[in-house]
Amino acid sequence: MRAALLSVGTELVRGEIVDTNSAYLAARLTEEGHEVLAADTVADDLDRVAATLRRLGDAHDAIVCTGGLGPTTDDLTTLAAARAAGVGLQRDPASLAVIRARMERFGRVMADSNAKQADFPIGATILPNPHGTAPGFEVRVGTARAFFLPGVPREMKPMFEAHVLPALRAEGTEGSFQIRLRTFGLPESTVNDRLAGIEGTHGVVLGYRAHFPEIEVKVLGRGAPGPALERQVRAAADEVRGLLGEEVVFGEGELTLAAALGAELRTRDLTIGTAESCTGGQCAALLTADAGSSAYFAGGVVCYSNQLKVALLGVPEALLAEHGAVSEPVARAMAAGARQRLGVRVAVATTGIAGPSGATETKPVGLVHLAVATSAGVDARQLGFPGSRDQVQRLAAFAALRLARDAVRALPRPDLS
Ligand code: ATP
Ligand code: MG
Repeated sequence: MRAALLSVGTELVRGEIVDTNSAYLAARLTEEGHEVLAADTVADDLDRVAATLRRLGDAHDAIVCTGGLGPTTDDLTTLAAARAAGVGLQRDPASLAVIRARMERFGRVMADSNAKQADFPIGATILPNPHGTAPGFEVRVGTARAFFLPGVPREMKPMFEAHVLPALRAEGTEGSFQIRLRTFGLPESTVNDRLAGIEGTHGVVLGYRAHFPEIEVKVLGRGAPGPALERQVRAAADEVRGLLGEEVVFGEGELTLAAALGAELRTRDLTIGTAESCTGGQCAALLTADAGSSAYFAGGVVCYSNQLKVALLGVPEALLAEHGAVSEPVARAMAAGARQRLGVRVAVATTGIAGPSGATETKPVGLVHLAVATSAGVDARQLGFPGSRDQVQRLAAFAALRLARDAVRALPRPDLS
C-alpha cells in the first residue's frame, strides 16, 4: 500500500525532540512491503494538521499519524482528524470508563482534560492503549485508512504492531523480500555506479545507506511472498557481490566486519591479537564488540610511543630511526612482534598519521600503514584516508580488520602449519 506518515508536535518542528517514531514506522512498513511515500511533520496547530491530513489522505492508501492525542490543550490531533474526515466528535463511554479506572488506580480523580481522551471522530474504530491513557483510533480520510497513535514511543509501538500492521496486512498487499549487503572500502557514488543496471535486469529496487565507514546496499524485491521472490532477490544480491567484490562486501544483515573476521578465525581455530598505534585500540574495541569474541581474540597492545613499540613488540630501534614510526617496515615489525609476543596465530598492526597535525613533507595526514602476520608471513598495505582525525582512525581500524580477514581467508582450513 502507498503509505504516508504524519508526526504532530511543536517540539518536533522546533528540534527539541528527534522524530524517532517516523524512522521506526517507515522501517516497519517498508519491511512489510508497503511503500512509504511521505513523512510529514507539523506543529500542534489545528488547521495545519487537518490540512496536511486531507492532502495525505488524497494521495495514499494509509496514513499513520503519531502525537497530540493526550489530555493537554495543545493535543489537537483528534479534532483535526475529525475535521479532515468531515465528521464531528463523539464521547465513547467504554473508553471513558477505562480512563477513569486507570486514573483511580493511580489515586487520581478524572478531570475534564482526561475525559477529552474518550472523544473520537464519529465512526472511528477505537484502538486500545495498554500502556497509557490515550487510546488511538482509525478513521477514513480521503482514500486512506488513517491510524492515529499516541506520540510516546513506548505506547505507540505496541499499538502499531497489534492493530495497524494486521489491519494493513488484511488488505492483501503484495509482499517484499530484502537482502542487506554490508560494504566497506568504496565511496557511495562508486558503489552506485558499479551497480547501474541491476534494478532493470533483476526487477529489484536498490537502496543505499551510509553508516560511516560502511555503505549498506539494500536489495528489495516486491511481489507475491515465497521462494520465487526470494530467489529473484538472491540472484540480484549475488550479482551485486560479484560487481563489488568479496573484499568490499564483507557480510549481510547484522554481520559486522569484526564478526566476519571472527567467523573466518573460528572455522580455522585461530587466535588474533592487535598491535595498534594510530587507531588507539579501536581494532580491539571493534573485535570485542561481538559477544563470543573471547573464542578468538586474545588481546592487544596500544603502543603509541616508539619506546613502547620497542619494549612491548620488539620493533628494532634501527627501523624506527631509519624509516620513522609511520612506515611499512615498522608496521611489519609490529605485526610480527605481536604475533610472537602475544602468542597468537594472527596479529594485525596499525601505524599512521591521524592528524590534524603530525604531517611531514613525505608523510601527509591520513597516511596509514597496516600489516598482518600469519603463518603465511607478513603482508602490508599503505593507505591514504581523507577526513578528520576520528574518521581517519575509524577508517584505519576497519581497513586493518579487513586486511586481517582477507589474510585469514587465504589460509587453508584448518591451519596446520
Ligand atoms: P501524551 O498523552 O503523553 O500527551 P500524545 O499522544 O499527546 O501523548 P505528544 O504530546 O505529542 O503525544 O508527545 C508526548 C511525548 O512523546 C513527547 O514529549 C515525546 O517525548 C514523545 N514523542 C512524541 N512524538 C514523537 C516522535 N515523533 N518521535 C519520538 N518521540 C515522540
Ligand atoms: Mg501530549
